[in-house]
Amino acid sequence: MNTDSFALRHIGPRRSDLSEMLSVVGVDSMDQLIYETIPNDIRLKEDLTLDTAMSEQEYLEHITELSSKNKVFKTYIGLGYHQAILPPVIQRNILENPGWYTAYTPYQAEIAQGRLEALLNYQTMVTDLTGMELANASLLDEATAVAEAMSLLFNVREREQKKNNASKFFVSEEILPQNLALLQTRSEPLGIEIVVGNTDEFDFSEGYFGIMLQYPGKTGKVHDYTAFIEKAKKAQIKVAVAADILSLVKLESPGNFGVDVVVGTTQRFGIPLGYGGPHAAYFATKEAYKRSIPGRIIGVTKDMDNNRALRMALQTREQHIKRDKATSNICTAQVLLAVMAGMYAVYHGPKGLEYIADKVHNTAATLADTLEKLGFYQANDTYFDTIAIKTDATKIKFLAEAKEVNFYYPDEETVSISINETTTLKDINKIVSIFAEGVKKETIKITKLLTGNKIPKEVARKTEFLTNDVFNTYHSETELMRYIKKLERKDLSLNHSMISLGSCTMKLNAAAEMLPLSDPQWGNVHPFVPTEQAEGYQKVLKKLEDQLTEITGFAGTSLQPNSGAQGEYAGLMVIRAYHQSRGDNHRNICLIPSSAHGTNPASAVMAGMKVVVTKASENGNIDVEDLREKALKHKDNLAALMVTYPSTHGVYESAIKEITGIIHENGGQVYMDGANMNAQVALTNPGAIGADVCHLNLHKTFAIPHGGGGPGVGPICVATQLVPFLPSNPIIKTGGKDAITAISAAPWGSSLACLISYAYITMLGEPGLKKSTQYAILNANYIKERLRGSFEVLYTGERGRAAHEMIIDCRPFKQNGIEVVDIAKRLMDYGFHAPTVSFPVNGTMMIEPTESESKAEIDRFCDAMISIRKEIDATDKEEPNNVLKNAPHTLEMLTTEDWKLPYSRQKAAFPLPYISENKFWPSVRRVDDAYGDRNLICTCAPIEAYMEA
Ligand SMILES: *Cc1c(COP(=O)(O)O)cnc(C)c1O
Repeated sequence: MNTDSFALRHIGPRRSDLSEMLSVVGVDSMDQLIYETIPNDIRLKEDLTLDTAMSEQEYLEHITELSSKNKVFKTYIGLGYHQAILPPVIQRNILENPGWYTAYTPYQAEIAQGRLEALLNYQTMVTDLTGMELANASLLDEATAVAEAMSLLFNVREREQKKNNASKFFVSEEILPQNLALLQTRSEPLGIEIVVGNTDEFDFSEGYFGIMLQYPGKTGKVHDYTAFIEKAKKAQIKVAVAADILSLVKLESPGNFGVDVVVGTTQRFGIPLGYGGPHAAYFATKEAYKRSIPGRIIGVTKDMDNNRALRMALQTREQHIKRDKATSNICTAQVLLAVMAGMYAVYHGPKGLEYIADKVHNTAATLADTLEKLGFYQANDTYFDTIAIKTDATKIKFLAEAKEVNFYYPDEETVSISINETTTLKDINKIVSIFAEGVKKETIKITKLLTGNKIPKEVARKTEFLTNDVFNTYHSETELMRYIKKLERKDLSLNHSMISLGSCTMKLNAAAEMLPLSDPQWGNVHPFVPTEQAEGYQKVLKKLEDQLTEITGFAGTSLQPNSGAQGEYAGLMVIRAYHQSRGDNHRNICLIPSSAHGTNPASAVMAGMKVVVTKASENGNIDVEDLREKALKHKDNLAALMVTYPSTHGVYESAIKEITGIIHENGGQVYMDGANMNAQVALTNPGAIGADVCHLNLHKTFAIPHGGGGPGVGPICVATQLVPFLPSNPIIKTGGKDAITAISAAPWGSSLACLISYAYITMLGEPGLKKSTQYAILNANYIKERLRGSFEVLYTGERGRAAHEMIIDCRPFKQNGIEVVDIAKRLMDYGFHAPTVSFPVNGTMMIEPTESESKAEIDRFCDAMISIRKEIDATDKEEPNNVLKNAPHTLEMLTTEDWKLPYSRQKAAFPLPYISENKFWPSVRRVDDAYGDRNLICTCAPIEAYMEA
């Protein structure tokens, strides 16, 4: 046996466990299990064509060699991306720490207080710098945040404007190109008209509902928008601003001018460029719009003992509740990156940020001054970090690239230079020498920085920021290291125990997959450098696209979408473009089965489609007759079906080919939600079931860690007829020949995170991928059998098998007064994170172990579940004071002097023997969600403010 194979490290069960597991499941072989699980007519008859698997050692050599093909120039392109310094203490203790990166979205707040606090810090940082009342815990990128701001302003239009259908949105010509591209993509299906122009010439006429400004503008100029915003308010036109976060340290916050929304990216707060991402965008607004905010918001509440506790607030706004009425489809966001950016602010504090912002501004001013001395004309009379030199751009480009320097060249006479935190005296001397060479003059040597004064007095910052203790305490490395550790210890991540969240695929995120992310040869590449400078990236991204195309059985792939939901939107927009190319502009009906994830209907509405829900039959499958009826009824206008496969009920529906056939016969395209791809890879695929497009959640199936709720990567893979429409980018060409406009800011989305999935596929190869899928199915069916008699599995395939996950019914326990949440909270006492609760069926749990969990860990989980079942049987509806209702139990309550509960402390905290050697203590008792929503606090305000509320 080759013990050096990565598959052996990635897959949990040992060879010696196999026969016992198979016998518990009741089959003779793995092949028999797969035969009984996946319908014969969709099983692949041939192996995928992929390269031979590499060992970890081979892969790391390979990826280092590829990294050396990236030419990492000094880059001053700006346009929303700036090289930043990731403080090593944050790199080592967060980015490279599985305690942080393997956590899930903090649904189970009691075991997620650490990252909830880190996100509350992030929100506070954003509200302080923007001057707004409320901020969310990140969005996918600045361009997405800009588009979401437009949608929000559209949704909260004044009554008059709604009545008159005011649908014009004014966009300053100073907008960044990628932000404009997304506004174009997102406005059209919603019937919004984008008008781009100069703010000085805008007439504030009726018909406009909103305005988008860029602050500072794309040229680098800092405008004083005070009077403009006043006029807009008088005309009842709402204003959003995309603002550079570092500039806000020096510029008065847009909130102070009375704007309605402020958005931007926090990339330059210590996050690697990574050839486009992942980075966290911020979104801040007024409290009045709290129910329309996209994405997650962290808020303060209290627990059962009235102690302060955090949790995700206002969940009722989200798509899993509101579906096609949701205000946004954002699910996965950029939590890990938000945590890091927030920590950057914690580490530097207000004084540190001021030092950095001053240095950036002074460096830009010194450079401008010196270039002017050389005789150049610098066109920005005001600026923060970006100057514009009027000269022969072609010549400078040639000289600069020879010296490994990138500027931005908006036209043939302009060289735009954006200074960042890393820019040194040496760097600007090099820049000066390039320009001197351009005009054949002696260079001027800069020996010290001048004090810049190019920020207009009227907009210079006067308001304080980051006054809270958390931003003024942890400024030594020891202190920050311990603060990060303190938070980490409150959170249950994959480095403690199995997280069997159904539909989320919490598998191993191998260290070898993650290591290259720390390499500056990958980290320091700007997304808009000429592609020949990014040869390493180009090779990896192309190869990954090919791998995913092969795995899905399709013809092409776009890596642009930054999450599954964004992939859904991208895929539907591609379908829409396909219909339009055939003159079928009227095709706008999207069929969605009732069991679908909430993002499906939310995405369909964003793509301008009308959702028609199809029924589930008694056994949980799609009701084929109902689907046929609806497809026929809408056949003239049918655009698409969105179908999850295997279904969110954990079943490979055998009618799937019939279903996709019905859609095609009626002129529709089939969108497969690929969240459950872990049940397909190398055994079947979307091509084989007759789909036309799917998204893949690389952060589920393909090993990108969940990061506590992001980053994600949601590529779309498409059949031949859809390849021409794959999305483009306004600066670097991507996509098909009839490409739709951009779906996200960067040409290849979150390129840095793509390295992880590339590593995963490259190290597993075809045999390892197939084995992973087989073991994912085996582990799930093993759990199903072990829980038999304790928990009823709601749906199974025709031969009684689960797919890679299963739903267990917890509704019968209501007769004992026990709800599904009680089981979820009690699992914490046993050291486990709950499975997915109440999705897709209320009152149930969806369990997905993945292939990475060992038999021993799965057995512990099953023992815990069986023990909980016994506890349920022993509870009495009349006696609510029981281990389940009081769960989770904290160390603090357990060690009180007077223990008054009607069960022992041992029973509360150590109900099974395995727990004592690896006890996880929840840091708060059960949180009160409703209280926090009634008293909404979403910043780390001083404790007094909280007490008053
Ligand atoms: C996770 C998931 C999504 C959404 O994906 P994100 O990456 O979170 O946006 C959509 N559909 C299903 C079935 C999912 O499980």
